[in-house]
Amino acid sequence: MIPPITPELLSLLKDFKRQHPWTGDLTDRKNKFIILNRRLNELFHKEVELDTSRVVDGVSSYNSYIPVVGGVMAQKIIMIGKLSVITYLHEYAHILDANEFEAQNWAIELYKQIFPKNFVNLHIDDSGFASLEVDP
Ligand SMILES: [Zn+2]
Repeated sequence: MIPPITPELLSLLKDFKRQHPWTGDLTDRKNKFIILNRRLNELFHKEVELDTSRVVDGVSSYNSYIPVVGGVMAQKIIMIGKLSVITYLHEYAHILDANEFEAQNWAIELYKQIFPKNFVNLHIDDSGFASLEVDP
């Protein structure tokens, strides 16, 4: 199932945009994602934990994932490599029961609506993730 794109969701993401997600030192940027995660949890009535401890500066890879514990998807997103809005939204979509195709489309559609200027410059690699995300 693809999660609905509601006015509440868009407004929450616009707040996130106003925080300039790609500006600040790594701790600042991680905190912006953690706050976004908390707000999405409130909106979707989830208790997803966002683990950013393996995010580092200076890499360009995205290997974020949701751990599977005992055959069940954990309520946890582990981000590895870069902090990426599209990657994060993609993983969150899986928490909301989206399959791979739906997660990809949801993340890209939201990104396009919230960051239209960035979207023009976006490269989508084979795995469907952004390889360029910067504050305009
Ligand atoms: Zn996926």
